[in-house]
Amino acid sequence: MNMTADVIIVGGAVMGSSVAWWLTRMQPGLDVLVLERDPSFAQASTALSVASIRQQFTTDVNVKISRFGIDFIRHFDERLGGTGGVSSLGLKENGYLFLSSTIDGAAALAEVAAMQRANGAATALWDADQVKARFPWLETGDLTAATFGARDEGWFDNMGLMAGFRTAAKAQGVRFLTARACGLRMSGGRITEVEIETKDGGRALVSGSSVVNAAGTRAAEVLRWAGLDLAVEPRKRTVFVVDAPNARHPDAPLLIDAGFYLRPEHGHWITATVPQDDGPCDPNDFEPDLHLFEDVIWEQLYARAPGFDAVKVVRHWVGHYAYNTLDQNAILGPHPHLPNLFLCNGFSGHGLQQAPAVGRGLAEHILTGDWQSLDLSDLSVARMIEGRPFLERAIV
Ligand SMILES: Cc1cc2nc3c(=O)[nH]c(=O)nc-3n(C[C@H](O)[C@H](O)[C@H](O)COP(=O)(O)OP(=O)(O)OC[C@H]3O[C@@H](n4cnc5c(N)ncnc54)[C@H](O)[C@@H]3O)c2cc1C
Repeated sequence: MNMTADVIIVGGAVMGSSVAWWLTRMQPGLDVLVLERDPSFAQASTALSVASIRQQFTTDVNVKISRFGIDFIRHFDERLGGTGGVSSLGLKENGYLFLSSTIDGAAALAEVAAMQRANGAATALWDADQVKARFPWLETGDLTAATFGARDEGWFDNMGLMAGFRTAAKAQGVRFLTARACGLRMSGGRITEVEIETKDGGRALVSGSSVVNAAGTRAAEVLRWAGLDLAVEPRKRTVFVVDAPNARHPDAPLLIDAGFYLRPEHGHWITATVPQDDGPCDPNDFEPDLHLFEDVIWEQLYARAPGFDAVKVVRHWVGHYAYNTLDQNAILGPHPHLPNLFLCNGFSGHGLQQAPAVGRGLAEHILTGDWQSLDLSDLSVARMIEGRPFLERAIV
């Protein structure tokens, strides 16, 4: 049976749900249909995220996105008008600590910290002694500088964020359908229909005025149906949960060191690194790179914090970044060659925290034809087509 909707959203995890909620909040009665191939979200980046938010980005627009995000996350229930069924996202505001041990790195930290503060962030620029005074369990002898965000940075409930948007969107009339989008039909330079396969294997067409690509790591596949390219690919990240009985620091920040990141989690620690041979992976490949903890992370971790002398990996998981190979930044807005296809892609490992602001921005663009509350044009599709990188340097 064929269907119609005003807006069809491909992908129903955090981004798809946020866009759907914002659209129907701004225009009650708008007919929004969200297509989700796997409602267990077992492979969605949203479910496999480390679920943290920071203000410490190197581009002005990403700081502004996080300024909005932290307020929304902190007051989630209220912002959803009490309709999300999630009373709190349990924000744990321990801050992020970025470390540098080079002269150039120190200068770069100082420069971006000033930009972040100008946007309202609380980023403090520290020397090694200040790091030691606040976190005495860290080795600081090699440090040239550090930046610490004492407020508005930490971690929160990822599934709560998605579930809240979803529930609140349903309450506003959004329809969520378990179906895989599998093709696009076009006429006159616009998408007219999305081909879908339903869970019982049936095929159908959905016609609509606008289509949003919120397909995460599979975003490029959606563009290929229209004969277009998108420089977004799945990149594997293996996350380790470790127990370190001699390192119990529940007030620890999310530490970003040269070769790994680390944060506390319920008496244990979460840590991960970027593999040296980082490259695209199959979207179905969730085989962990187990050697990374022993071969890459542990030695650096121990050098930074001797309390990690005894460690045991108690758990691990694998998630995929939807990695933008041009500039590791989001790709947002209408596609210049197909103006009723809106992209919401390429978040490269920092999309969860961006869901509130990006959802609002895309909804405004779809409804009014331009960015409104926040100018997101730096993240436009045009730069991808023109090969003009808008680089986010603080990628972890
Ligand atoms: C290990 C890891 C750590 C991370 N840490 C952080 C962090 O600390 N902070 C942060 O902000 N971000 C983090 N991220 C990134 C963040 O999780 C993602 O950017 C964000 O969740 C992206 O949401 P999304 O909705 O775009 O994509 P996804 O969550 O991947 O959802 C895409 C959805 O689209 C569906 N889909 C795909 N193709 C189709 C189709 N053809 N038809 C129908 N449905 C389809 C999929 O089933 C999926 O549910 C991390 C990611 C990973 C993997």
